Amino acid sequence: MAANEPNGKNEQTERQFATKLIHFGSEIDPRTGASSVPIYQASTFHQFSLDEQQEYDYTRSGNPTRQALEDYIALLEGGDRGFAFASGMAAISAAFMMLSAGDHVICTEDVYGGTYRLLSTIMTRMNVETTFVDMTDLEQVKAALKPNTKVVFMETPSNPTLKITNIAEITAWAKQQGLLTMLDNTFMTPYHQRPIELGVDLVLHSATKFLGGHSDVTAGLAVTANESLGQQMKQVQNGMGTILGVYDSWLLMRGMKTLQARMEAHEQSARRLAEWLSAHPNVEKVYYPGLTGHPGREIHEKQSKGYGAVVSFDIGSGERAKQVLHQVQIPLVAVSLGAVESILSYPAMMSHAAMPREVRLERGITDGLVRYSVGLENIEDIIADLDQALRGV
Ligand SMILES: *Cc1c(COP(=O)(O)O)cnc(C)c1O
Repeated sequence: MAANEPNGKNEQTERQFATKLIHFGSEIDPRTGASSVPIYQASTFHQFSLDEQQEYDYTRSGNPTRQALEDYIALLEGGDRGFAFASGMAAISAAFMMLSAGDHVICTEDVYGGTYRLLSTIMTRMNVETTFVDMTDLEQVKAALKPNTKVVFMETPSNPTLKITNIAEITAWAKQQGLLTMLDNTFMTPYHQRPIELGVDLVLHSATKFLGGHSDVTAGLAVTANESLGQQMKQVQNGMGTILGVYDSWLLMRGMKTLQARMEAHEQSARRLAEWLSAHPNVEKVYYPGLTGHPGREIHEKQSKGYGAVVSFDIGSGERAKQVLHQVQIPLVAVSLGAVESILSYPAMMSHAAMPREVRLERGITDGLVRYSVGLENIEDIIADLDQALRGV
């Protein structure tokens, strides 16, 4: 049965994304016909013969449940090999662990806060230096090149002001310079954006967000575009041991099956919310790649199939933002995004609290900026809730 071939790659790369989400190669257990990947809750594997190497020997090095997830994400991203980690940051850390002391990284300046912290503190201590640049401007990226530059790290759309990086342009330049390209694809997911098809070498995810989708699992995924990079990543994953647990691997696959259905519904609501906010008298500015006039919108439309479910907006002052955060009843007021429930977060005091105020303001992360991750609730209810919260400001 073709569906059960390892990776199932030959048959399945031709199918549409929605079909791949359901029929990803391990959806039927070949031993029993079970309709879901078995949870191999085992740390080690009996070796039946010492003369023959078995596929699995120890779960840190490999486990069939985790392997099914790793093959699944590789299939969805159109990459060569997938890797599952204990968190998004564990996946991103593993990527940088492929570097050596003395190497240099060029990174987008509005990268996820955890990645910024990793590069500016821990990696610096390991003698890997980073230059942060505005990646919407290729000239700035070029100007940051040094003889020891090894990696260009992208994140698009960025957080929380949804700036757009031209993936193909940056990647083409990086290839000319012999640099490795990495991209954090958390906000778009492979449903909307497949960076490997645009030449990126390594794709990273916080699967805690849209891929898991239910605010109930913390996980990270990485996909490599070629075999040699896959071998390096495998060495880091096995060597550092920052793997995703077996049960969480299963839970993540369960969430991922509905990725397309969720993303379509999330996005339909997000577009409606962004338009409604744009017309609201108490809202000063709305950031959403689907809005006419959003900077980089044309570039985004060339490299992605949709706009996602994160809408940021500025309500003028910190006082007003706090009032709205107190008044809303539907969303969770929390960090994180990409879940079935709406999540409202306040970058100035949450994700970007550690950033110096002047730097924060320069990046458009004002005291009045809030970020809404639109969930699967009825959109008219979401709007009515925000309307009553905004009326009071
Ligand atoms: C949440 C997030 C991360 C970190 O993922 P964790 O699972 O929390 O470790 C990385 N990048 C982006 C864009 C994120 O939103």
